[in-house]
Amino acid sequence: MRFELELSGTRWTIDTAKPIDLSIPVNCQKPSGAKAWYIDPPSKSPVRLGNWVGSVARGGSVNFNDLKVNPHAHGTHTESLGHISPEEDPVEGLFDQFFFEALVVSISVGPNEGITPAMLQKSIEHCEKNSEAAGFWSKGAKALVLRTLPNNRAKLTTNYDHQGWPYLSAEAARLLADMGVTHLLIDTPSVDPEKDQGALLAHKAFWQWPEHPRKKATITEFIYVPDQVVDGPYLLELQLAAIVNDATFSRPLLYALESL
Ligand SMILES: [Zn+2]
Repeated sequence: MRFELELSGTRWTIDTAKPIDLSIPVNCQKPSGAKAWYIDPPSKSPVRLGNWVGSVARGGSVNFNDLKVNPHAHGTHTESLGHISPEEDPVEGLFDQFFFEALVVSISVGPNEGITPAMLQKSIEHCEKNSEAAGFWSKGAKALVLRTLPNNRAKLTTNYDHQGWPYLSAEAARLLADMGVTHLLIDTPSVDPEKDQGALLAHKAFWQWPEHPRKKATITEFIYVPDQVVDGPYLLELQLAAIVNDATFSRPLLYALESL
């Protein structure tokens, strides 16, 4: 299907048959997908009730598995302020819509290096100048997709334990909050460094916690942005698994915007 839509005062068309999937799947089989935070990979096991086993291969009537998964560690997930607040504040129920104007920007940054406000501003300006995004951002796009460079498909399967990764400096996270970015997506396991003694400075700065908590803002981590995605404006569909928790697995989809 082709849809025509108006974003930031400009008319565009999208092709729903061409979604660009940014999710890293949770894979309970071997080898599993990307993981972090020192816990076991995701796993599944058939339920046993008396003599009954939830496995067709083992004589059961259906496959009926228990899953052991962790949204923060095992794949693409979206989290709410509830990740760092003492209240529950679950991500479930937070959204009243799932489509957003989004800008994809790429930033060259090394492992254990923090993205600075200057790096962020330069990338956004470059993106706006060199694409149909001109004015898109200033007109009110509310989602930002950050792709760290270098980019490669190993991001789909990397075990990040003790590897370190690029992160967002607290100042850069604060800048995004000031710019009104409501939904931030990044291709690292966390917006903060792997080892920060629990400081979570970028999470706190983005959510403006505890001074002015931005309860509607979300952070989506552990995405993968394929190389063929060019920096610029997109329609983002951010779909979440309906699980009442501070974080839930998610499937962000991009649709290329074509001029009418
Ligand atoms: Zn996080």
